[in-house]
Amino acid sequence: MDRVLEFVDSHISDRLSDLYYTYGGRLSWLTSVAGPGLQKQIASIFTNSNNVIRQGIELFLITWIMGTIMYLGTASFSYFTYFEREEAHRHPKFLKNQEWLEIKTALLNLPGMALLTFPWFLAEIHGYSQCYDRLDEYGYTYLICSVVMFLLFSDFAIYWIHRALHHRLLYAPLHKLHHKWVIPTPFSSHAFNFLDGYAQSLPYHIFPFLFPLNKYLYLFLFGFVNLWTVLIHDGEYLSNNAIVNGSAHHAVHHMYFNYNYGQFFTLFDRLGSSHRQPEAEMFDAKLRTNSTVIRKQISISDSIQKEVEGKDDRVYAHNGGEL
Ligand SMILES: [Zn+2]
Ligand SMILES: [Zn+2]
Repeated sequence: MDRVLEFVDSHISDRLSDLYYTYGGRLSWLTSVAGPGLQKQIASIFTNSNNVIRQGIELFLITWIMGTIMYLGTASFSYFTYFEREEAHRHPKFLKNQEWLEIKTALLNLPGMALLTFPWFLAEIHGYSQCYDRLDEYGYTYLICSVVMFLLFSDFAIYWIHRALHHRLLYAPLHKLHHKWVIPTPFSSHAFNFLDGYAQSLPYHIFPFLFPLNKYLYLFLFGFVNLWTVLIHDGEYLSNNAIVNGSAHHAVHHMYFNYNYGQFFTLFDRLGSSHRQPEAEMFDAKLRTNSTVIRKQISISDSIQKEVEGKDDRVYAHNGGEL
């Protein structure tokens, strides 16, 4: 993150310093109102790239803006290029104005997530993490192993965090919002309560504080996990893979709630007895849209939904969610 901050400093923030030097004199009224201490602090935020408040504000804005660009960019690309929009729209469980609701939910919650996330990046640039600079610092074997470790560590921790978010005390206040989307679209990917999203992103931030991780690889992995979140909501059921927790597995999670809590692999769901293999029909476009198949799917989904949430307060696009 220090390299990103340096880039922003030299291309954007230092322009603010120039503005301060040009117009800063106009803030002299602050000295009479709040004393010279506050004006000195403001001058330091504008002009000193090592000022921790300035760094915090910059990191918050970078996290928020980059997060929003990545979300809208990747989800829009997926939605407009290969996402089966018509198939999703025809499904009885698709909500009225669902895409707009998803985008609105994500955009309202991304600032809160960025606010909770930037202290991790601030601690990292101040040298508290185990992020390292040179690719060969711990050897290339470790570099490759650190990717596997990162994915397994995150998947294990997310599995338990996600499972805990399904506990009846946490589900309604934190996680129910993300389960509003029974038929997810790529825009569902970041459409959650900011505390829910932050809780599930915690393992990504904790990992480099426990294990050495190359800082460029960390940026790449951070981009990858955001992309993966979109990919598991894109309805593109590539294969019924037994190891990878793909889009079909996560679609099962949205449809049947209490299964497939993992993010990358099916391993921890298998160990925790919460694995549910997607039905073969999901991989056949004709069968997937067959009314008998959908009716059976809805009947199972409705009974689990009642058990988990009680009354269904979703507003469906057609027929009150019935076929
Ligand atoms: Zn869930
Ligand atoms: Zn989801």
